[in-house]
Amino acid sequence: MSPPLYSWGRFPQTPQHGHSCVWRDELPARLERVIEHHGSSLPYGNGRSYGDSCLAASDQVLHMRSLDRLIEADWTSGVLKVEAGITLAEVLNVTIAQGWFLPVTPGTQFATVGGAIANDVHGKNHHLRGTFGRHVRSFGLLRHGQPEIVCSPDVNTSMFAASIGGLGLTGVIHWAELQLMPIRASQIDTMTVRFNNLAEFFALADELDHQHEYSVAWVDCLAKGAETGRGVFIVGDHAQYGSLDVQARAKLSVPLTPPVSLINKLSLTAFNGLYWWVHPSQRKTARSAYEPFFYPLDRILHWNRIYGRRGFQQYQCVIPNANAETAMVELLRAIADAGQGSFLAVLKRCGDVRSPGLLSFPMPGTSLALDFSQSEDLQNVVFPRLDDIVRAAGGRLYPAKDAHMSGADFRQAYPAWERLEALRDPSLMSRFWSRVLL
Ligand SMILES: Cc1cc2nc3c(=O)[nH]c(=O)nc-3n(C[C@H](O)[C@H](O)[C@H](O)COP(=O)(O)OP(=O)(O)OC[C@H]3O[C@@H](n4cnc5c(N)ncnc54)[C@H](O)[C@@H]3O)c2cc1C
Repeated sequence: MSPPLYSWGRFPQTPQHGHSCVWRDELPARLERVIEHHGSSLPYGNGRSYGDSCLAASDQVLHMRSLDRLIEADWTSGVLKVEAGITLAEVLNVTIAQGWFLPVTPGTQFATVGGAIANDVHGKNHHLRGTFGRHVRSFGLLRHGQPEIVCSPDVNTSMFAASIGGLGLTGVIHWAELQLMPIRASQIDTMTVRFNNLAEFFALADELDHQHEYSVAWVDCLAKGAETGRGVFIVGDHAQYGSLDVQARAKLSVPLTPPVSLINKLSLTAFNGLYWWVHPSQRKTARSAYEPFFYPLDRILHWNRIYGRRGFQQYQCVIPNANAETAMVELLRAIADAGQGSFLAVLKRCGDVRSPGLLSFPMPGTSLALDFSQSEDLQNVVFPRLDDIVRAAGGRLYPAKDAHMSGADFRQAYPAWERLEALRDPSLMSRFWSRVLL
């Protein structure tokens, strides 16, 4: 029997039984069988969502990872057709050597293409290129008891919009055609500088975001007083010369899950302070391989184990521009007062490029993301305080990272939920959707 599947945060701890198939044409019968025996199911990519959006209400998921083939590639136009269970790492391993890169990539290369579409993921260039869904030309969707539907911006348009960011509820995406972005080299030219507070972060973002393809900041979530929101600002661009080599880095691994979280106030304060100090106070340029630039955490396999057996939750919100600076100060103060948080919180400006998805997370504003060890205090004290700030500022939380948002907050923040519910395949249901809707 295959080992149970979880979400990345391992909270809620509801093991999923995975049903997989080797060939795409086996999918309809496999879906049929799971529904017949268990009532409902949900597609599951590679479990890189943190909360319960990738967990089936029936705990019986359709595991897509074995559908990982390249179907067709046109290296002149950069159009790639792949099976939906292929990971972004597997895509890049093939496309970089041909001079093509994913136009949008999240902070992990271990997400699958199907998962990237279903959460309409964003990356460090949201201000320029919007979300992943903008670069999807078409996909094949399988709904229970129906023949395949091909969806694109011109065909089956409402199903296309509902499935991008559709949380796996509209059907199983089994292949997708993507438009890639040309590159001349696999390396990234970077510029790094640290900043002393949030006002400096916003000034840097105003100045630099539109000069560079990629932009992101790491924040010390425990810094207080005048230093609230201090951090490190990093921008990057694809190098204009160099090689198209893919040199996969050797990976480290956390071999087992300790009984309790290794993240505590002491280790956090020491690490965050050190990380800030070792970065330059003056702008410093460098050249980086693409993996450490885009996917620093992927270097350590199973890093989610360091949070111990109770798991952890990520809190990711986006606050609209008008209220972003004030709300971010309040959020970071509340987090520092609680003395909890992660080694590196991520702060990022989102742009105004519209997503084709109905329920996409980004909006023009600023996004903050950080991890917290699971505890009663987190659920009952820290998150409600943060939620109050986000709600008052007109912001919203990211379903891909969520395991706690209230139904009222979800429905307020994502008014298009009713349109998605109307197009949901009745045989697909996640723990997330049943939590926020039913
Ligand atoms: C270290 C790390 C960094 C991250 N950084 C970012 C980031 O920068 N930006 C960002 O947006 N996200 C980020 N994420 C979140 C991650 O990119 C998304 O959760 C992504 O959707 C995970 O893909 P997956 O293949 O693992 O899908 P899963 O987590 O298994 O599933 C995600 C959703 O997709 C659905 N789904 C999966 N496969 C299919 C399919 N074939 N057809 C239909 N629906 C399907 C599932 O039902 C579920 O609703 C990060 C996650 C990690 C662990």
